[in-house]
Amino acid sequence: MKYPRLLALEKDEIFLGKMDAVHAQFKDYMKEKSHAKGPRIAYFSMEYGLHSSLKIYSGGLGILAGDYLKEASDKNVPMVAVGLLYRYGYFTQKLSASGEQEVSYEAQNFAKLPISPVRDAQGNWQSIQIAFPGRVVTARIWRCDVGRTELYLLDTDHDLNQNEDRSITYHLYGGDWENRLKQEMLLGIGGIRALNAMGIRQDVYHCNEGHAAFTGIERIRNLIHNDKLSFSEALEVVRSSSLFTTHTPVPAGHDAFPESMIRQYMSHYPDRLEITWDQFINLGKTNPNDPNEKFSMSFLACNLSQEVNGVSWLHGEVSKEILGGMWPGYFKDELHIGYVTNGVHFPTWCAANLKRLYAKYFGEGFRNKDYRIAAWQKVHDITDRELWDARLVLKNKLIDHIRKRVSDPKQFRFDSPRQMIRIQESLRPDVLTIGFARRFATYKRANLLFTNLDRLDSIVNNPERPVQFIFAGKAHPNDKPGQDLIKRIVEVAAMPQFTGKIIFLQNYDMELARRMVQGVDVWLNTPTRPLEASGTSGEKAVMNGVLQFSVLDGWWVEGYKKGGGWMLPMERTFENQDFQNEMDAELIYNTIEEEIAPLYYRRDENNVPHDWVESIKVCVADIAANFTTNRMLNDYEERFYRKLHERHERMVAEDFRMAREIAAWKRRVSSAWDKVHVVNTEQFNMDKEAILIGHGYDVEVVVDIDGLRPEDIGVEMILADQITDNKNVRVIAKRELTFVRQDGSRAFYSVRSTPESTGSFDMAIRVFPKNDKLPHRMDFALVKWA
Ligand SMILES: *Cc1c(COP(=O)(O)O)cnc(C)c1O
Repeated sequence: MKYPRLLALEKDEIFLGKMDAVHAQFKDYMKEKSHAKGPRIAYFSMEYGLHSSLKIYSGGLGILAGDYLKEASDKNVPMVAVGLLYRYGYFTQKLSASGEQEVSYEAQNFAKLPISPVRDAQGNWQSIQIAFPGRVVTARIWRCDVGRTELYLLDTDHDLNQNEDRSITYHLYGGDWENRLKQEMLLGIGGIRALNAMGIRQDVYHCNEGHAAFTGIERIRNLIHNDKLSFSEALEVVRSSSLFTTHTPVPAGHDAFPESMIRQYMSHYPDRLEITWDQFINLGKTNPNDPNEKFSMSFLACNLSQEVNGVSWLHGEVSKEILGGMWPGYFKDELHIGYVTNGVHFPTWCAANLKRLYAKYFGEGFRNKDYRIAAWQKVHDITDRELWDARLVLKNKLIDHIRKRVSDPKQFRFDSPRQMIRIQESLRPDVLTIGFARRFATYKRANLLFTNLDRLDSIVNNPERPVQFIFAGKAHPNDKPGQDLIKRIVEVAAMPQFTGKIIFLQNYDMELARRMVQGVDVWLNTPTRPLEASGTSGEKAVMNGVLQFSVLDGWWVEGYKKGGGWMLPMERTFENQDFQNEMDAELIYNTIEEEIAPLYYRRDENNVPHDWVESIKVCVADIAANFTTNRMLNDYEERFYRKLHERHERMVAEDFRMAREIAAWKRRVSSAWDKVHVVNTEQFNMDKEAILIGHGYDVEVVVDIDGLRPEDIGVEMILADQITDNKNVRVIAKRELTFVRQDGSRAFYSVRSTPESTGSFDMAIRVFPKNDKLPHRMDFALVKWA
């Protein structure tokens, strides 16, 4: 802001009054911080999307983390967060006239960011150190106040480090794998050291994605060193207080490092943890002792966390398949992997005029950041005219913004000035506008719309019901196929029939996202099933009354309601992806032509589209209400935080009594387990080998328990379809047998079973370690089958 303007504002009573009011409101908000209640959470993430000016995010994962911290602040949950402060962050995108993505990195001036150094009592800048081969790296601690939530950021770019180490925190997802390992050690190990250095102790440790899994290793080291626990006792304590949230729906998306690289950086760790190298490295593997299997951060996180969750219902299911190798002997449906569907922070993403309108109708609680789902139903009380006008304001704002961008040579490049004028002329606020913006990974299939250009031509240039498309998104600098998608869209956009009807805006960031999700009419999403873990941009759109049209994938599986948006079915019709793409494209064209455009252009004499507005109301009341971070944080508290907090309390009470007991019991069972085996299984009272419905029969199993107590093991009978095919197995019934008697090392278990349904099933016996103190079976997943 210019200095004379500041001087003028200093004397502007109206401005000063508004400023004071905002400041007073903020002070009141911050005063509540001392009343924060509930388990204290430590949250770790590689990236945070808080505002476009703080470039420590790249996309969905970061924005989710940023929204979550804001919600923790609003809800006054005692949460601190840890991340890295990047000098260059993620790249800025520019496009050449032909659509080549040009990447540039701008150094952030930390002095101008809303962060400050953390200082100790003597006023010294607090830092932590971490040993890398042949040297020690120092990271300074910065603090960013996200309302009431403190975010601590680690930074290696300063003169206490040699050049090679200064660059560790230059780029987000930039360097090679080795740099990624350094970053993850910094985040996990350094992050815990930073909290310790500041005297911060939390109850529950939440890893947002596997990047931060080393937190568990460092916490175990602390428990061994400070509290003199053994590795296995410390592991019990750490597991009982750790939650791992996985975000990745493809195996290749999970970070994994070659064993040799881990050895280079962490060869001293087994010593400190008082375990062998093999024990250490196997924490990140599913095939123990396979030197070629990489060390997976997700497997490590699973091994160090009692609770694991995906980020939508469907992604929870997919995660069971990806991570299932961790627990051989259990079927997919039995795995202890939950889900919490991602949400978005309402005050960040909902347009100001709509927030005012909602507050007016939805009631007082809504204004105080209490987004009770039932209140959203009152959107039906808003008149169609009022809601539609609010939508038009937002749409006009977006179109104005695009016009400005189009005439700014830094934002837009053309082959000729004539092209610019044609875009300006054909871009119109009264045309049905469809937005598509996201990371340009190939699975998002941004080019699906361009499968048949003649069809597309007739849709956008329909004389009565025209349509325009706004695109934006970055492709990772190493992702050539993703960049080719962008190039293709820019090429199509330059064709005469599509000029000004298809527009690609460069440098998608939070600011542009906000404008787009508020300003378009329809939000389009076309991922390859089931590769969208959750997706959140559509959630931002629907709370603004923008109707979503998406493949049923990620959050939309739960979100879609008839009459409040459109979907492409979840089931794949074709194995062949090209066929599937072609069919999906056809469905998209048909839906736009036959459903979306007619609904949009059906108007009354005052030009209000009542049916469209009715859809907006359904969308806001029945969809948007369920996808806020408010609901999401409630879910995390109910499903995980409270449970973990309670268990952790019990684990450490009386000088870690429970941790010691469980660890000792597991040690005893593990050492006997190799010899535990089923000696005999018999079925009685069966009629000629067949089991009759309604007739009971007895099963008796004899197990050699080799020195264990009969109550140390459980024996269960499982009836299932295709028990040999682990992946598709459907468990029909499970019955636990009861202990009957013991004879030497042999224990006898039996059950009376009465089949209730017909069919031919496989029957199998599974033996497992049993102890009421275990939180769930996967906590100690040894099994023996017979
Ligand atoms: C919300 C958002 C995303 C995530 O959107 P998806 O639906 O997951 O693709 C990515 N980038 C920006 C800038 C966003 O605002």
